[in-house]
Amino acid sequence: MTVVGHLINGEIINAAGESGRSQDVFNPSTGEVSKQVALADQATVSNAIAAAEAAFPAWRDTPPLKRARVMFRFKQLLEENAETICKMIGEEHGKISHDAMGELQRGIENVEYACGAPELLKGEHNRNVGPGIDSWSEFQPLGVVAGITPFNFPAMVPMWMFPLAIACGNTFVLKPSERDPSSTLYIAQLLHEAGLPKGVLNVVNGDKEAVDVLLTDRRVKAVSFVGSTPIAEYIYATANANGKRCQALGGAKNHAIIMPDADMDNAVNQLLGAAFGSSGERCMALSVAVAVGQQAGDDLVAKLQEAMKPLKVGAFNNSENDFGPVITQVHQEKVVGHISSAEADGATVVVDGRQPDVEGHPNGFYVGATLIDNVKPDMVSYKAEIFGPVLQVIRVNTMEEAMQLINDHEYGNGTCIFTRDGEAARYFSDYIEVGMVGINIPLPVPVAYHSFGGWKRSLFGDLHAYGPDGVRFYTKRKTITQRWPSSNVREGVNFSFPS
Ligand code: NAD
Repeated sequence: MTVVGHLINGEIINAAGESGRSQDVFNPSTGEVSKQVALADQATVSNAIAAAEAAFPAWRDTPPLKRARVMFRFKQLLEENAETICKMIGEEHGKISHDAMGELQRGIENVEYACGAPELLKGEHNRNVGPGIDSWSEFQPLGVVAGITPFNFPAMVPMWMFPLAIACGNTFVLKPSERDPSSTLYIAQLLHEAGLPKGVLNVVNGDKEAVDVLLTDRRVKAVSFVGSTPIAEYIYATANANGKRCQALGGAKNHAIIMPDADMDNAVNQLLGAAFGSSGERCMALSVAVAVGQQAGDDLVAKLQEAMKPLKVGAFNNSENDFGPVITQVHQEKVVGHISSAEADGATVVVDGRQPDVEGHPNGFYVGATLIDNVKPDMVSYKAEIFGPVLQVIRVNTMEEAMQLINDHEYGNGTCIFTRDGEAARYFSDYIEVGMVGINIPLPVPVAYHSFGGWKRSLFGDLHAYGPDGVRFYTKRKTITQRWPSSNVREGVNFSFPS
């Protein structure tokens, strides 16, 4: 059986390291094991860090324009090989090809942003901050930086990180998700084909053992993490305790407020894609609809119920399917468990996806689209991130009540409001305690030239991912103050600041 290995110093290493540990990779559409992934031991990760450290001096001094040229070629290779990448994503994640293509496109947009490295790294300059004195700030790379990424976007999330970090002059060690590692490794190989020098990007597959080396090794200067909140919190605390810069993006529970004046048909269409697309396994998935007023709630649930009838869950390789399986059997059981717990707590399961009929794939990890009404804030299924194709409806009487609900939730990744009232929308965006806000936009994922990040326990750290915050995260400011006195001018001793 194929073993997915590591990419260290430009070479594919197919061994699991001295520990010999490896783990199954599934095809979630069939439920079968398709590959093994090597789980790096400490020595393997240490080798990857050493390769990145050795590559840093030359890469740091490579002009940003030349670094950007590698990114231009990389973008072209990603486009030329898009179908291969999307097939790999589908086989291991279960994402339908049209959805995988969307993910890849979002990743490519981050590569396009990184192509602007010479402009992004320009710095700030002031002439004559004092008599004959000039001062400027420049943004220097950190050195070896690490990225640790989740299963749900095996192409896009790594490309939130390494293209920009590398374009800024850093070298990189990436630890992708061990559940769907192939597309990430292939993308890293394409970057080498584009002309990246050996050692600048290294990929180690693995689990906690590999991650812990990245968090504690003094050669790693910064860590970017995306994944679930408990792990994000651990990563942030451990990286900080070891003196590293860290941004750790966590989980989510994203609410949409449906105001009584909303265009209800449009809101329903938007909700379907945002709740069930990618089987709800998106950190920006809309998983709670908050209906304001009895009538809006009744209309919403009736229309959703009708609109959900034709939705099709099925294998990744049939593009007529709306969404695919969830990632593992354990996760399938967890999602089904949350639906059952909501029911046991008194909520109404209006559309039940617990036993979907997927012809030809009896062992795939499927959950059908599920709609649950009359959910209450104290229910476990409401507090938790379900991360499956489950839309919960909460009914409230006022917009203030809806906003309070969102502000009280531990997560604050994304949210949106459906309304025709501009004043209400403005008030919402001003006072909602959430990092990414949509107004009649269900998935307000910032484009590559803004930055991505939630509030509260959806992000640990100060700087958001990619975009302008990404440039700041992957560089450190150095401020230089300079004077060239002529040889016949000498100043006296001065013990105070000039006034
Ligand atoms: P996860 O937290 O299980 O894993 C993420 C990464 O952490 C993986 O590389 C994994 O190997 C590693 N990891 C897992 N357990 C670890 C441990 N004990 N110690 C050290 N490392 C460990 O997340 P997942 O299931 O792969 O991804 C889904 C989660 O990611 C969801 O909660 C989702 O909301 C979140 N997510 C957030 C964003 C965001 O931008 N906020 C984006 C995508 C996904």
